[in-house]
Amino acid sequence: MSSEGMKEDCLGWAARDPSGLLSPYKFSRRTVGSDDVSIRITHCGVCYADVAWTRNQHGHSKYPLVPGHEIVGIVKQVGSSVQRFKVGDHVGVGTYVNSCRECENCNDRLESQCEKVVLIVLTFDGIDADGTVTKGGYSSHIVVDERYCFRIPENYPMASAAPLLCAGITVYTPMMRHKMNQPGKSLGIIGLGGLGHMAVKFGKAFGLKVTVLSTSISKKEESLSLLGADHFVISSDQEQMKAMAKSLDFIIDTASGDHPFDPYMSLLKTGGILALVGFPSEVKFSPASLNIGMKTVSGSATGGTKDIQEMIDLCAAQNIYPEIEVVPIDYANEALERLIKRDIKYRFVIDIENSLK
Ligand SMILES: [Zn+2]
Ligand SMILES: [Zn+2]
Repeated sequence: MSSEGMKEDCLGWAARDPSGLLSPYKFSRRTVGSDDVSIRITHCGVCYADVAWTRNQHGHSKYPLVPGHEIVGIVKQVGSSVQRFKVGDHVGVGTYVNSCRECENCNDRLESQCEKVVLIVLTFDGIDADGTVTKGGYSSHIVVDERYCFRIPENYPMASAAPLLCAGITVYTPMMRHKMNQPGKSLGIIGLGGLGHMAVKFGKAFGLKVTVLSTSISKKEESLSLLGADHFVISSDQEQMKAMAKSLDFIIDTASGDHPFDPYMSLLKTGGILALVGFPSEVKFSPASLNIGMKTVSGSATGGTKDIQEMIDLCAAQNIYPEIEVVPIDYANEALERLIKRDIKYRFVIDIENSLK
């Protein structure tokens, strides 16, 4: 459907060029189809993807670009065939809003790994089925097929739910896939940002012994007291690293900056697994780091719709909450700047409901 002639009833904040500077922008959403849910957005988390896309870091951003893929809101309208949601429900939308729906992975509800990659529609800057460019959650409302919407339990704070939809699921998926949920086992976490701090929380909820591996001593106190990690290791300190040799069952690597892998691989026990969720420019390690000790290196990106709902339900049942700083929409540019400087503990959430007018 063309948006020509449609009322521009959605207010968002968009970047107009690779400077990434966001400012108010009016546009139209598609009319609600039979399987669609229309959501009045209350909150949207701020992910590093918002920085990368608004600044065209991957070279394919289409402007005006409305970022945001940690979306939470209240259902305001449902299509005639919608089964799972009704007006007034609290719902979330994550990093993608469509997929082929017929490949093996889609059938397994692992749509994030849809085999027809060109048919995965990202929540912003994606090409939707109707040919329009998708626009994200820095906006007043969104229309999404119900398959790609998630129920947020009534008792779970909506602002806290936002970061689960990208940061949360990105670490939860590999943790479940590699059975990093066995009480008593030991987990190392590289990088303590939006993703890493959620990995600490899931690790503790699963009964693991959690070690934070960080380059910054400034994060030690909070890792142990606020987040509940058991150990904190400065990864540049060779003595501390040596003392940890062959002590970890799992490592989840959330660092996106380039870093050596051999020192971390040496921390794994025999048969240990390192799961990579960041995007450094390359992954390089000595074969001996893998072969001696029969170790596994694996990758992961976001998660399927089944896991997303399971994770949200787990967070509500076990009172797992991200650490958030709620900000108004007119703070969005500063929030992105602070994210670039890693000056955030641990996720910004934009209060769309009360500040986007
Ligand atoms: Zn994200
Ligand atoms: Zn598919």
